[in-house]
Amino acid sequence: MASIQPPESGVLDPIDALLSAHGLRRTAAARRVLGWLLAHADTSYTHAQLQTALSGEGPLALDRVTLYRLIDRLTQVGLLLCRVDASRVRRYQAMPASVQAMPHFECQSCHRDSPLDGALTGNADDLERAAQSALSALKALGYQGLSMDFAVRGVCADCATGPVP
Ligand SMILES: [Zn+2]
Repeated sequence: MASIQPPESGVLDPIDALLSAHGLRRTAAARRVLGWLLAHADTSYTHAQLQTALSGEGPLALDRVTLYRLIDRLTQVGLLLCRVDASRVRRYQAMPASVQAMPHFECQSCHRDSPLDGALTGNADDLERAAQSALSALKALGYQGLSMDFAVRGVCADCATGPVP
């Protein structure tokens, strides 16, 4: 059985660890973007929404070009999930598997992500256990940037029955 190597330089914070593991530089901007998306991992955001959210806090100004480049890079290495919504706008979200591989429902209209918990799936624990053991087995073999997606997609009840805008 393969042993898992400890990180080279002691204990990293989880954001740094993710950036390093994906070969990215641990810049303040990268930490900020990834940290923010992981903290809001249940929702997907457009470039514009991210720009607004991230320019409002902290002393570091994050310019548009830097943000675009970072988002592209984070998406390329599999830390962010990019999808195109019904109005053909790209939306980004922290890759669910970098947090946990939980079955979830994605509403294509309001872009809310809801976990499908035991009440809905009955065997979510089994699914999650299977996902986690597959992920750790692959990690032990040296695979990187792993992600798994158990998504059910559609339109949520609120959107389906709500008033048409
Ligand atoms: Zn909805």
